[in-house]
Amino acid sequence: MADSNVYDPAPILTRLQNLIHEPHVSPDYIRFRVGVLEAQAAARAALGPGAATDTLPLDPALMTLDAGTLRSLYAALRASVGGQGLQSVELDRLGVIAGQHATLLDELARGALLADDVAALSLAAERIGVSVEALQFVGRVLVAPFVLEAATKPAVDLQQAPPVEDSGTCARCDSAPALAVRIGEEGRRVLCCSLCGRRWTFARLACPHCGNRDQQRLATLAVGENEPRWIEVCDACGQYVKTTDARRLSEGAALVALVEDTATLHLDLLAEKEGYRRRPPYAALV
Ligand SMILES: [Zn+2]
Ligand SMILES: [Zn+2]
Repeated sequence: MADSNVYDPAPILTRLQNLIHEPHVSPDYIRFRVGVLEAQAAARAALGPGAATDTLPLDPALMTLDAGTLRSLYAALRASVGGQGLQSVELDRLGVIAGQHATLLDELARGALLADDVAALSLAAERIGVSVEALQFVGRVLVAPFVLEAATKPAVDLQQAPPVEDSGTCARCDSAPALAVRIGEEGRRVLCCSLCGRRWTFARLACPHCGNRDQQRLATLAVGENEPRWIEVCDACGQYVKTTDARRLSEGAALVALVEDTATLHLDLLAEKEGYRRRPPYAALV
């Protein structure tokens, strides 16, 4: 019998690859996301099923990040990103420096757990000579296999909403949610963490990033009418969250947050065009 706590990327990879037939999604971007997930899944498998520490919240200082796993994950990431020509110059440079400084990958991965420490990231970016975005991307991708909750199921269970929580950031890893899923008859709002994959139910009419509940400063942006996917923006903090209404999707289609996030890159571009702050890159394996 299969152990339900062993992470299996196969169904998610299939769903990602099927996005090739969808409009709005570039095949290069899908191949990039597939490559990243394959690299992360190999790292996760190398860690073994007992790897995840299911404490709440995670304490970055107490986490053990195996140096060998970090190195091979970085090499695989570089290979997959390089193949697509995305950020490859910066990743090559980072790779050279990581070869000279044994603790660099560990520092980047740990730094990703302190999501809002942009000042530290900027200093490191200047010192190393790569962009803050590249460091943030690498750090999040590196740490995600270590923080994936052992019991996390890939698909959002559309029948059962997780417990209600007051915080708009993840109680486990302190990362921002990448997307919200509306489920159930009353449209409960389930937030999906962009780093460890945890989910929780949150207030429907509040900004998860800053807690703003002033309806005058909350709005939605959509590409078309009656679309099942849109973004919810907050003019108090200038941030947004992508939203998928599961009730408007064809029945039986289980939602995988990573697949949803990949399929809705056009919504991120829309938000950026409208001047909302870019969100941290999605790095969770589910
Ligand atoms: Zn999390
Ligand atoms: Zn806000």
